[in-house]
Amino acid sequence: MGFAPTARQRELVELAARLGREKFAPRAARYDAEASFPFENYADLRAAGLLALCVPEAHGGLGADFATYCLVSAELGRHCGATALTYNMHACTMLWSGPMTDDLDMTNAERAQHAERQALHFRRVVKDGAIYAQPFSEGNPSAAGRAPFGTLARRSGGGWVLNGKKIFASLAGAAHYYGILCTEDVDGASRKDTIYLAVPADADGFTVTGPWDPLGMRGTVSRTLVLKDVFVADQAELMPRGVYYQAANRWPHMFLTLAPTYLGIAQAAYDFTVGYLRGEVEGTPPVKRRMYPTKQIAVAEMHVKLEQTWAIFLRVIAEARVDPDKAARLRLLAAQYTIMENANDLCRLAIRTCGGQSMLRSLPLERLYRDSRCGSLMLPLTAELCLDRLGRDALYESGESDEA
Ligand SMILES: Cc1cc2nc3c(=O)[nH]c(=O)nc-3n(C[C@H](O)[C@H](O)[C@H](O)COP(=O)(O)OP(=O)(O)OC[C@H]3O[C@@H](n4cnc5c(N)ncnc54)[C@H](O)[C@@H]3O)c2cc1C
Repeated sequence: MGFAPTARQRELVELAARLGREKFAPRAARYDAEASFPFENYADLRAAGLLALCVPEAHGGLGADFATYCLVSAELGRHCGATALTYNMHACTMLWSGPMTDDLDMTNAERAQHAERQALHFRRVVKDGAIYAQPFSEGNPSAAGRAPFGTLARRSGGGWVLNGKKIFASLAGAAHYYGILCTEDVDGASRKDTIYLAVPADADGFTVTGPWDPLGMRGTVSRTLVLKDVFVADQAELMPRGVYYQAANRWPHMFLTLAPTYLGIAQAAYDFTVGYLRGEVEGTPPVKRRMYPTKQIAVAEMHVKLEQTWAIFLRVIAEARVDPDKAARLRLLAAQYTIMENANDLCRLAIRTCGGQSMLRSLPLERLYRDSRCGSLMLPLTAELCLDRLGRDALYESGESDEA
């Protein structure tokens, strides 16, 4: 069950660590204070080739698979939560549209057509440095997977006309393309009629509106998108018609990709605590607090919780694949729940253990605490919904009911 990262995975994580330490961490407080998008960090990610992390090597990218993405993302999360979370939306659009979709059932004609469309999206990222956002939330039950998306797409001469609204769209105003999940506007449409289209930021009828002044993850700039009669050509499809529904059911780990950011935040809170108690945190007097038994016990508890979180994370990313068995599906929900809840709890323990001076705004811990609060709210696998599905799926086999 041990997880041994490959040499390539270690190399990519080290690249993310270097950027994080040298560039992202020093800028994080400013983006947080201003609730502004980390444009400089994206310029650095672009220069390092990391915008193309999940673009296959055959298309000029770094060819990262699911597990590699998760490891890189966790490292980014240690240095700037908002950068890591928004990077998830971009990088995983490539992962979803690329290797995950390739695993799913399509006719030969659909597969050939999808290959052409994938190539277009990959080229934009590799050659033009384009950024993709992933807005699916609408403020209705659709993002929880309980109803069709309310944003509608109607067929119109060689393309689609979109109407609707997306809330909490991270990278709003910063992305070049927005991967909009919407429902084909047909009679009796269901979740099976979901389509996934990349809308260019400069499309007619597309606007970014509303304020963004949240508790945490302030640099994500997750504002509202309004689509009014927005036309996109067929080549905007990020997945063939009907395939998103298949992906959500057959590649369920696709929704775990938000969690590594929060594992990185948990690690950062632990690292801060150790440094602070040793009197080594930059910007604080070199006062040691490590000799008190209560501090030692608190750090031990944090260490145990952190190791437990890493353990389930590493196990789950190693077993992510198309059509996982029931045990792996349940473990995925347990992992998401564990990471999101433990991240916030470790930040809480960090502040409690380090004490009052540690939560001053001049230090990163209070930002980690606020950012970590957002993890268990992320649909479709909020902490509540993970428990809801875990309990039900553990007790019922597919298709079972208690009705007579
Ligand atoms: C920093 C940040 C960045 C984000 N970025 C993005 C993004 O880029 N793209 C995107 O699409 N979304 C994004 N989101 C949105 C996020 O995934 C959620 O959609 C959003 O927080 C939903 O808020 P809501 O109040 O409308 O949730 P609601 O749908 O009102 O749900 C509230 C809570 O009720 C519970 N709940 C919901 N439905 C059910 C149900 N059927 N049964 C039982 N319980 C249920 C859930 O636990 C949920 O947390 C972001 C959120 C944050 C905080």
